Amino acid sequence: MKQEIDTLLQETIERLATIDNAKDVDRLRIDVLGRKGTLSHLFKKLGESPDEERPVLGKILNETRVRLESAFEEAKSRTTSISAHLTALDISLPGRLPHLGHLHPITLVSMEIAEIFQRLGFEVVEGPDVELDYYNFEALNIPKDHPARDMQDTFYVTDNIVLRTHTSPIQVRVMEKQPPPVRIIAPGKAYRCDSDVTHTPMFHQVEGLMVDKDVSFGDLKGVLTVFVHQMFGADVDLRFRPSFFPFTEPSAEVDIQCVMCRGEGCRVCSETGWLEILGSGMVDPEVFKMVGYDPEEVSGYAFGMGIERIAMLKYGINDLRLFFDNDLRFLEQF
Ligand SMILES: [Zn+2]
Repeated sequence: MKQEIDTLLQETIERLATIDNAKDVDRLRIDVLGRKGTLSHLFKKLGESPDEERPVLGKILNETRVRLESAFEEAKSRTTSISAHLTALDISLPGRLPHLGHLHPITLVSMEIAEIFQRLGFEVVEGPDVELDYYNFEALNIPKDHPARDMQDTFYVTDNIVLRTHTSPIQVRVMEKQPPPVRIIAPGKAYRCDSDVTHTPMFHQVEGLMVDKDVSFGDLKGVLTVFVHQMFGADVDLRFRPSFFPFTEPSAEVDIQCVMCRGEGCRVCSETGWLEILGSGMVDPEVFKMVGYDPEEVSGYAFGMGIERIAMLKYGINDLRLFFDNDLRFLEQF
């Protein structure tokens, strides 16, 4: 009987060493340590053994059970950790690509606008968001009593410093620094105390300026026509409507054929078939005088547009606030 016990212990330990999954460990455990298993069988046989051998055999059997139990424990923990790894890691699966972010639609449209004008020879320049009153208003021929200077529209930092209400002060800064010719485009943020369905306190603009000898309104029309056709399609019509801006004379607003109804008339264009997209005009001689250019010598045009507006028309977005909600379901569409 002692021989049987030794064999059982030895064989079980040898078999456990070859097993690599938890299921087989459990199966062998039932065979060996289960109620009807080999060890139970040996315990039963203990009752039939001679009285004088019984205490010794009983002790050996108990010790064997302890050793077997710990051998099974060890095998179990070894195999479960291996199989856990094998289920979590399927090395035949293709690799997972890292999740890349992408540019905001406002940035995309801003870059597209800049690229169109860069191809036409314009240089991209930047200026400060926090601006002196002088550059934001005074140098742009906006007198002290002009409605644009009203406290309701402008964020004042101090009496003399504002958050720029448009990107136009960049024009003045550039002209102050360099003699003509000038051919620049200035994208950036602008700020106004205004918040409703169609206005946000911070918005984006692109400003354009061209100054040289003999620059005419015809040049302005040509450049803006190329821009509209590249931005919205070669079949989109545009028209110039007389308007007023303090820093241009004459001034014109530019409408494009409604991108929703193609000029038929719809809710978006208030049944007119046209959508306003930008303001423009010939630089006012007063602005040239402020920066030391001679209005008899040079002439120029300027234009400015809201980037949100262009993005809304290009992508058919009907709510300005979507750009600033940071809702990924919206942003991931671009
Ligand atoms: Zn329409």
